Amino acid sequence: MKVAIAKPFMGYEEAQAAYNVVKSGWVTQGPKVEEFEGEFAKYTGAKYAVAVSNCTTALHLALYDAGVAEGDEVICPSMSFIASANAIKYCNAEPVFAEVGEDYNIDIEDVKSKITSKTKAVLIVHQIGMPADIDAFKALCNEKGITLIEDAACGIGATYNGNKIGSHSKYVCFSLHPRKVISTGEGGMITTNSEEVYKSLKLLRQHGMSINDRVRHNAKTVVIESYDVLGFNYRMTDIQAAIGLVQLNKLDEILKLRNNIAETYFKEFGDIDSIQLPFPKEGKTTNFQSFSILIKESSKKDRNTIMQELLDCGIASRRGIMLAHLESPYAYKNVTLPVSEALADNSILIPLYAQMPQEEIQYVIENFKRILEA
Ligand SMILES: *Cc1c(COP(=O)(O)O)cnc(C)c1O
Repeated sequence: MKVAIAKPFMGYEEAQAAYNVVKSGWVTQGPKVEEFEGEFAKYTGAKYAVAVSNCTTALHLALYDAGVAEGDEVICPSMSFIASANAIKYCNAEPVFAEVGEDYNIDIEDVKSKITSKTKAVLIVHQIGMPADIDAFKALCNEKGITLIEDAACGIGATYNGNKIGSHSKYVCFSLHPRKVISTGEGGMITTNSEEVYKSLKLLRQHGMSINDRVRHNAKTVVIESYDVLGFNYRMTDIQAAIGLVQLNKLDEILKLRNNIAETYFKEFGDIDSIQLPFPKEGKTTNFQSFSILIKESSKKDRNTIMQELLDCGIASRRGIMLAHLESPYAYKNVTLPVSEALADNSILIPLYAQMPQEEIQYVIENFKRILEA
């Protein structure tokens, strides 16, 4: 048997939706993107949503719109996909890496100790769908007069204090990459509760163009657009948005399926002393974008051995969340982050995807237990 780490949950409906757009003759950002944005805002409970090409460009736009520029510092966890730090670099600003706690989320005490007069923003990451403490960071950022940006690349459908991720702050960035819970192939979304930010982001993602192509296409009199600010081409296509609309409709079902598999893992692995399972904290629910297991020191085997033995029986696994500060673009910073490093060295992601068949789930459980105990 071969078990993949993840698979997108897509089928005929998505293909049909994409085909309909192709047939319509309007394939780039247009009516489907607008509809998708409306549904995405409704789902998350945010006032507005702006679709972009991926979450990396979403993060770049959010930071740029917040005024992050050369000479500024932005505090973020090193423990994240490298795009979080890279987006800060795109603004010619400097990422300042903070520690995480044992729940993999950014540690507010460490963030406080790293705020300087140069700090312009704090970028928190909802790790593998587990929400960070948004309210605490909101309060801190308000007090210090700095901007809070949420990297919710993996966070769609997760909740914090009873509300969906996306509804809480000024800049929340989502990814629609196939490794996330719903996908448009590539894609991103920024939700905001600020009308001003909404208008600005719409301008910035489309070359700073004052009147968009669709308005000009439908106009009865000649319209000449102007370019009032330096913008970017970070558009999503209508083909992607049509797929996204179908995916959004399936999201609640996907969350239920993922949650069921996670519950089975909790039940089967809960009593094993040599590992620690993720623990959803009070007031938070996760979408189980990934299922992360920490291999404790008491384990007979180390993480890499376990990964190899899983692979030997056809089961894909991944190391836990990466650390940006150990990669070449950030090695010059020479930082050490003991908590993040210990978590990264000893955590493992095991297969979990919505349509995962029972036989695969059981195969993972049997083999993971056997490998840990042998
Ligand atoms: C996947 C991911 C990104 C990048 O998303 P893309 O849509 O691939 O650009 C950024 N941050 C985190 C935390 C991610 O997991």
